[in-house]
Amino acid sequence: MSDLIPAPVPELTEPYRTTERLALQAQARRFAADEVKPIADEYDPHKWQMPRSLLDAMGEQGYFGIMVPEEFGGMGCGVFEYAMIAEELARAWMSVASIIARAQGLGTEFEDDAKRRELLQRSARGEWIGAAGFSEPEAGSDLAGVSTRAERDGDEYVITGDKRWIGNAKAADFIQVLCRTEDAKPGEKRSAGLATIIVEKERDAFPAGLTGSTIDKIGYHGFLTWDLTFDGVRVPAANLISDQGTAAFRDTQKWLNIARVHTAARAVGLARAAVEDSVLYLQEREQFGHPIGDFQALRFMLASMAARVEQARAFYRQVADLLDRGEPCERESAMVKLVATEMAVEVTGDAMQLHGGNGYTTERQVERYWRDARLTTIFEGTSQIQLKIIADSLLPRSPLE
Ligand SMILES: Cc1cc2nc3c(=O)[nH]c(=O)nc-3n(C[C@H](O)[C@H](O)[C@H](O)COP(=O)(O)OP(=O)(O)OC[C@H]3O[C@@H](n4cnc5c(N)ncnc54)[C@H](O)[C@@H]3O)c2cc1C
Repeated sequence: MSDLIPAPVPELTEPYRTTERLALQAQARRFAADEVKPIADEYDPHKWQMPRSLLDAMGEQGYFGIMVPEEFGGMGCGVFEYAMIAEELARAWMSVASIIARAQGLGTEFEDDAKRRELLQRSARGEWIGAAGFSEPEAGSDLAGVSTRAERDGDEYVITGDKRWIGNAKAADFIQVLCRTEDAKPGEKRSAGLATIIVEKERDAFPAGLTGSTIDKIGYHGFLTWDLTFDGVRVPAANLISDQGTAAFRDTQKWLNIARVHTAARAVGLARAAVEDSVLYLQEREQFGHPIGDFQALRFMLASMAARVEQARAFYRQVADLLDRGEPCERESAMVKLVATEMAVEVTGDAMQLHGGNGYTTERQVERYWRDARLTTIFEGTSQIQLKIIADSLLPRSPLE
């Protein structure tokens, strides 16, 4: 095993290469290999939640505050560094690359300046890690159909309704809940009357009025995913952090674009893992008296996988860089999410094929890469929704919608 040649580790290239980024990349790669992967290999087969000690270690590395300004204790970096680190973490375990998205200043958009500043500092330290409560049993791709209500009652909002798929809900410090505070009036967009409310909570507990049950997934282990029922959950009125009239709501598109690039980077991390493991396996496994890597059919498959990973990486870095330059990039963000996640499903599937029967076991990790990659074309907006966004940017809106 020791004389096998490993896959070349991807380097940061021009025009993105800086000393600081190289150091961040090297640090994240070490952390992923030494701290994350051993836990992933042990925990994922049991569907266990990642241990708090790992979250604490990530907090010490600064990974919850990559995009939080330095004055609040964050790294003060941009989307580029965020995506680059996410790729490194996802190479070891996708859930770890995902949990960092639940911080980065999320859920801190309170009007009260002192509270906002305190939460930003906690966010950067990994002490304000949230859950995103958008989807519902009847509202997935069509979030304008959200029916969870938040009714004003004096100084409070009272939340009632069902949410589905809410990752990390119980372990979180807060849940960001997309609610309807009013019905859309005739002639208004269907999304009118939607608002985001922060439910503050104790870790590993639900507040009064909130109950949940876990959903048994085929992958994306490391944190639990919940069906939630809000039955009169009371929060202070100040916890409504964005409705259609606020700057925070207008920032939503920017966050969606960042989330799509982040997902593309996670997909690249998974596909790269599949290539790296395959490079070793093709040298290790012998059939017909030869390492299977001698067979041209398999060499070409591997070469094609590696080329597709490089292509997707170059694309996510380009879009991340454009976002950091303040370009809107809605279409490009949808394109890179689409292309990178579909690529990851293909490449991780090809890696299973290269591993033969061993690829279809839990003795190796390619099955994990495939299970996790399979989700990337579904969550954060399905591939069909990305295609719709791209098409709507190229053609007049369809009258059929
Ligand atoms: C493991 C997991 C974790 C998740 N985590 C979270 C989370 O933490 N928070 C959260 O809020 N949500 C989360 N989600 C929800 C996720 O974002 C939704 O599953 C996703 O947006 C799709 O919604 P849906 O499952 O209801 O599918 P549907 O919207 O019902 O889609 C079904 C099919 O129809 C297609 N489709 C729908 N509309 C159109 C259209 N207009 N044109 C063409 N095709 C269309 C879809 O592409 C899909 O193929 C998670 C989901 C999963 C599976």
